[in-house]
Amino acid sequence: MNDIILNQKKFFNSNQTKDINFRISQLKKLKKILLENEERLHKAIYEDFRKSAFDNYSNELALLYIEIDDAIKHVKKWASRKHVSTNLVNFPAKSYIIPEPLGVSLVIGAWNYPYQLSLAPAIAAIAAGNTVVLKPSELPANTSHLMTEVINQNFDARFFTVVEGGVAETQQLLEQRFDKIFFTGSVPVGRIVYQAAAKHLTPVTLELGGKSPAFILDDKHLEMYVKRLVWAKFLNAGQTCIAPDYVLIRKSLKDRFIQLVIAEIEKEHFSVENQNYVQIINDKHIARLGKLLSEEKTIYGGNFDAVTRIFQPTVLDNVSFDDPVMQEEIFGPILPVISFESLDEAITKVKKREKPLSCYVFTQDKSLRDKILHEISFGGGAVNDAIMHIANNKVPFGGVGESGIGSYHGEYGFKTFSHYKSILDKPTWFEAPLKYFPHSETKFKWMKRMFK
Ligand code: NAD
Repeated sequence: MNDIILNQKKFFNSNQTKDINFRISQLKKLKKILLENEERLHKAIYEDFRKSAFDNYSNELALLYIEIDDAIKHVKKWASRKHVSTNLVNFPAKSYIIPEPLGVSLVIGAWNYPYQLSLAPAIAAIAAGNTVVLKPSELPANTSHLMTEVINQNFDARFFTVVEGGVAETQQLLEQRFDKIFFTGSVPVGRIVYQAAAKHLTPVTLELGGKSPAFILDDKHLEMYVKRLVWAKFLNAGQTCIAPDYVLIRKSLKDRFIQLVIAEIEKEHFSVENQNYVQIINDKHIARLGKLLSEEKTIYGGNFDAVTRIFQPTVLDNVSFDDPVMQEEIFGPILPVISFESLDEAITKVKKREKPLSCYVFTQDKSLRDKILHEISFGGGAVNDAIMHIANNKVPFGGVGESGIGSYHGEYGFKTFSHYKSILDKPTWFEAPLKYFPHSETKFKWMKRMFK
């Protein structure tokens, strides 16, 4: 590992990655190999957790193509120096900001969207002129092997390489000195990464998780709300960092809402027979999810099978904030419904918890929409929809507080992997005597004016 990083450092110091054309050519190459291997990428993820080609394209590969195309189109502008005005005290001079790559970056991916979460940060790192060591999650073994194969066969390891492995290998990597670490995963591992980075004062981006609430505040378009919410909750069998984790609904709307949720689940056929409903990633997670159920609160679903790894969509009613299902991020197809009479009380309860990665509000009332957006701190979200904000790369994607540090996608990804170097550029034809000895009352007066 030491050699990989030393070689990347040497390559970075050769300044080749600073050439915009080099970055564009590498991004084009990445897109080409993804397109050429698309069928194999579909097959590998299907073997890992039965994720269909449809979902693999729409939730993973399409987003990567958008990131690559956007970076190719805009990287020249993003990387160009930006002139800004100069204040009077520095007159005469020019001021500008030069974006520069940080250097050798480490990207650590999570398993639930294995291609997207590994390669989207890598694309941002390349666009910004860094070298990349990518460590995908080991849990979806087929996708991890395939990414390693196609990237390591096509890229110079001094520039972009994949290192496979689990906890031990990741910890070995974390002992090395990187110029940037970009981590996607759980909060406890995020802390380990942050501590390791602190040893070398390496800047980090942490894309973590949390419990994202969905507020249902009226029934004006309840059927539409339910349609979108059910899709978002059970997409990837609930194994989505920005899935609506639980629902907060006005008491008077709850019964009808639950009826509609059940009808929508049945219509969508999330079952073992539906070859497009994904599996839970492994036995450990099946067992973990099983422990979150309570017989008396399960009003729909609750069945799971350790052999097929299919967990039936499950709805829990009369849930309170003290229930086990409310003590951790669910990350599976279980939807707890909590009803409330006072919106202020519900908001207070959400605010007592860690800041979520997402928050969703379903309402036609703009003042209530704005109340939630104003009063609750969260990473990002949607109004009358869920999850889909991730598909627009003109907005930053990232958490706040325990749900993460920093953001990416589009230009925000470029910024995440860049340092902005500030320059004051002075001509030599004039120098004001003001700052030099001897000081005087008059000079002091002028100095005060100059800083105004
Ligand atoms: P995880 O934290 O278990 O693993 C993430 C990565 O860290 C993997 O590559 C893994 O090999 C490595 N790792 C695991 N344990 C480690 C340790 N002790 N030391 C060093 N490295 C270690 O997370 P996961 O199970 O892959 O993903 C699920 C979590 O990730 C959920 O909390 C989810 O919300 C979050 N997530 C966040 C985002 C986001 O964009 N914010 C996206 C997807 C998932």
